[in-house]
Amino acid sequence: MNEVVAGSGGIGVLDLQGGVQEHLDHLRRLGVAARPVKRARELAELAGLIIPGGESTCLSRLLAIFGLDQAIWQAYRDGLKLWGTCAGAILLARENVGEVPCLGLIDITVNRNAFGSQLDSFQCEALAPAVAREPIPLTFIRAPKIVRVGEGVRVVLSMGDYIAAAEDDRILVTVFHPELTPSLAFHRYFARKCGVNVACGDDAGVDPHWTPQSWMDFSYHV
Ligand code: GLN
Repeated sequence: MNEVVAGSGGIGVLDLQGGVQEHLDHLRRLGVAARPVKRARELAELAGLIIPGGESTCLSRLLAIFGLDQAIWQAYRDGLKLWGTCAGAILLARENVGEVPCLGLIDITVNRNAFGSQLDSFQCEALAPAVAREPIPLTFIRAPKIVRVGEGVRVVLSMGDYIAAAEDDRILVTVFHPELTPSLAFHRYFARKCGVNVACGDDAGVDPHWTPQSWMDFSYHV
């Protein structure tokens, strides 16, 4: 398992609430130095930060309580790349239909819980040509929809009447959860966006040993 050495600039995963371990596992499967981030000082020297899925109201309160909102703004100004998955995308959006935005760093509008209740969660596959040659499995869990992208924001994956993934030069947002599938494609894509070397992973970007319970393999985390 990789450990981040000061100055080596790995990728952090915001560790306040939500799907943290699954992102760390995927980054490590790619040979990327990865670490959880609970405090502002732990942002130092990271090349990128993933804001995971979870519950965006809860996450935004915890960000404020721990002063991590200010710290993320500052680190972003200093060059940190950001990726928000699901609730993370909601936190990064400049506009949030009917709600106050949180970090507001990427010029998109999100519509929270736009698919309905938890029971309306679903899985599917789609092709995102910028990210991988093969269709990528997607897991939507009480997801938002991206309903507008501003100038300078590129659509990475469009699905019918909504946008599922988008990016600008510094920020990636996905409304689904690549960390809950065997596909490493989006993690590889983000690592490259951060300028971080990806040491392993086959061309298809799939971990053949992954199971839905992989994150419960505690021997792996020691
Ligand atoms: N529905 C959640 C919210 O609005 C997001 C769900 C998720 O991150 N999977 O915060």
